Amino acid sequence: MSEPTIFKRIIDGEIPANIIYEDEHCLAFHDVAPQAPVHILVIPKKEIASIEHLEGDDKELIGHLFLIIQKIARQQGLAEDGYRVICNCGEGGGQTVFHLHYHLIGGRSLQWPPG
Ligand code: AMP
Repeated sequence: MSEPTIFKRIIDGEIPANIIYEDEHCLAFHDVAPQAPVHILVIPKKEIASIEHLEGDDKELIGHLFLIIQKIARQQGLAEDGYRVICNCGEGGGQTVFHLHYHLIGGRSLQWPPG
């Protein structure tokens, strides 16, 4: 069996995280290396390695995650000025933790295109 990812270990309570939201399907916590004044990770509790590993019956889960992202963005005061949601997929896409996660980033002016 492969080693559990760091995010699975956070879900299981084995390592600490600054958790700001939790329900039966997902968890949201502050990124340990924030790239903006607000940088929160939203992850499903289900072990899904990346977008490439999604299946048809994950449809509802993904919709749920986006509604939670919207709720957190509003709570964090990001809704008016705007924010960015990023999901890196695969090594070439910049993914380093192979448990699906969305970065919610805001609180400063964001440039485009990203690096
Ligand atoms: P990605 O490169 O898209 O896979 O994003 C992984 C993110 O997880 C990075 O922004 C890391 O800073 C963040 N990260 C890694 N370990 C932890 C941790 N223990 N707690 C919170 N965030 C973490």
